[in-house]
Amino acid sequence: MNQIYKYFILFLPVMQEKGISEEEIFSDLEKFSAMDTNFKKVMSSMCTIPHPIAVKAHQLFIHANMGDPGLFVGTCEMEKQVVEMAATLLKHPNPAEAAGHLTSGGTESNIEAVYHMKARFFGDKDEDTCTYAGADVTTNTNTGTNVNASANANANPNVKLNLVVPATAHFSFEKIANMFNLQLRKADLDSSYRALPRSVESKIDENTIGIIGIAGNTEFGEMDPIGALSEIAQKHNLPLHIDAAFGGFVYPFLKDQNELNQFGFNLPGVTSVSMDPHKMGFSVIPAGIILFKDNSVLDDSLDKVKVKTPYLTSKYQSTLTGTRPGSAVAATYAVMKHLGREGYENNVAHCLDLTEHLFKKLIGIKLKPKYPAINILTVEVGGVQQTTHIRRLLREDYGWYVSETKNKVALRMVLMPHMTKEEIDQFVLDLKYILEN
Ligand code: PLP
Repeated sequence: MNQIYKYFILFLPVMQEKGISEEEIFSDLEKFSAMDTNFKKVMSSMCTIPHPIAVKAHQLFIHANMGDPGLFVGTCEMEKQVVEMAATLLKHPNPAEAAGHLTSGGTESNIEAVYHMKARFFGDKDEDTCTYAGADVTTNTNTGTNVNASANANANPNVKLNLVVPATAHFSFEKIANMFNLQLRKADLDSSYRALPRSVESKIDENTIGIIGIAGNTEFGEMDPIGALSEIAQKHNLPLHIDAAFGGFVYPFLKDQNELNQFGFNLPGVTSVSMDPHKMGFSVIPAGIILFKDNSVLDDSLDKVKVKTPYLTSKYQSTLTGTRPGSAVAATYAVMKHLGREGYENNVAHCLDLTEHLFKKLIGIKLKPKYPAINILTVEVGGVQQTTHIRRLLREDYGWYVSETKNKVALRMVLMPHMTKEEIDQFVLDLKYILEN
């Protein structure tokens, strides 16, 4: 085939009548792959190159569907073990009692946690009919879901339910608020960008369905005071979900464990946690984990969210998605077993070393980076326009990908395992040049 024609059909979104050879397919794939960004200059991503063991395991279980568990008994056993290992990392007093499963990542895990919060809220009021602040909420008899809840809350703004989140909450909570018709009540932050417990408590009222704490917020990597949030959750009898999508594979592996950087199911108010193997866990994309303290935590909500699955090997399904990739389960199982606690500790230590290196280098060029909690570093380089301009020059002139924070005007860099000190040195030289010219 002539070269120009071949290049042309690369961008032609049609399925040809006759298929093309494997060789041609892979030649196309290489071209598409070459268009993607090389991770070497990416300091804006919370994902990294998966561990080779994870990739191998992924390939081996590429056909496995967790949505039909009776067919994939072995893969389900691996999922159970991943959940138990994660619960152990999160200081669960009895890890075998933790409930949970793998998801596509932090967004889906957070959605599930809030889905259960909302169901629990109505479950607490009444089984079938919930008359709440003027809202008549009836239950779908097939699924047990409160079908009218949103409609009624919509009709009467006084009954809009709310979710209390820190001002640093990931944007997935904006989606969740839209999806479940919730008001997001954003709690104020302290000077280190952690939720202020008194602000969290002041946002709670009779329409609150739950509280969110973050262990490793997206912008700064800071952890909210989970101990204080746990006490507030218990006092108000509310579920507390911890979004540890990023920090779940960081905080438990810090060498220096102290009161301020620990969180988990040892704190009695914590009811669920999300943590992502596809971020600092070295697994493949998509791999998230949603963990619930135990089935009794789910009891209030499970009947409301589970649906009958007549044509599968299971009777019910309470996961958000139906078909779920067993390949991600195998990859996560393999890399967690292979690296062990020591492997993850080394990885976290390596990323913190890179972060400290960048921190010192930035000080060396007269900037004042915020002291990092974990491997996320922010540095102020001017006002909003100047920051956006510098970010653009870094990308367009030098190929660096960094991001910007909103809770303070700064450049943000995530120091993932794929970075090296040499690359960091080059980044700082390029940034210095931009700032001086
Ligand atoms: N929660 C936090 C704290 C995050 O940092 C992120 C992503 O960066 C998410 C949730 C969403 O994760 P995902 O993109 O895997 O859905």
